[in-house]
Amino acid sequence: MEGTDSNEHSKNHVCHHCGYEVWIPKLEKAEKAYCPRCRSFLKSGGRFSFQTSLVLSITSLILLVLSLPFDFLGFNANGREQAVSLWMGMHDIFHHDRPLLAITTFSVIVLMPAVVLLSSVLLFVGLCKEKCEKTFPLFFRITYYGGSWAMAEVFLVGVLVSLTKISSLATIKFGPSFFVYGLFVIFFAIAMGNLDRERLWEAWEEFGGGKV
Ligand SMILES: [Zn+2]
Repeated sequence: MEGTDSNEHSKNHVCHHCGYEVWIPKLEKAEKAYCPRCRSFLKSGGRFSFQTSLVLSITSLILLVLSLPFDFLGFNANGREQAVSLWMGMHDIFHHDRPLLAITTFSVIVLMPAVVLLSSVLLFVGLCKEKCEKTFPLFFRITYYGGSWAMAEVFLVGVLVSLTKISSLATIKFGPSFFVYGLFVIFFAIAMGNLDRERLWEAWEEFGGGKV
């Protein structure tokens, strides 16, 4: 779609690549708008409905909580076995003279994703009810900007890289929490990747938001 129409739902966009000004009509789900001058992608109508986004956020949150109490990794070296959960791992680091490291790691791999997901659940609950919630701007900012402080996928890649070194010293066993956390990272990435600022604000305005 190359938007040049103007109607009550149209928005004026400036292409970030070539500076061309484009009028884009309201897009339906899966519809995309491209710049007529340089063919760059401008905007999409979103891949998922708000209900699907809500389900994705709830599923991610449940997976995150479930990844905490069970064994994350197990090690076997010289006949000695030890398993550690995510929660106990953070606890051990905290009590081994690394409180700042434990707090920082816990914040970016558990706390911030949890806050962001909880906020997005509340955001999408309001949008699904088609209500103009006064809390929308707050939840939107927490969800959108908090997402950049959630580094679950960085942590998972870091764990896998460090395991390549540890594997020469001990036999490694992946616990159930490892797979649950991996699933959480996938769901979290999909949920965050589907956040469309303009689409959310437009929906909120449609339900009466922003009116004095
Ligand atoms: Zn352009």
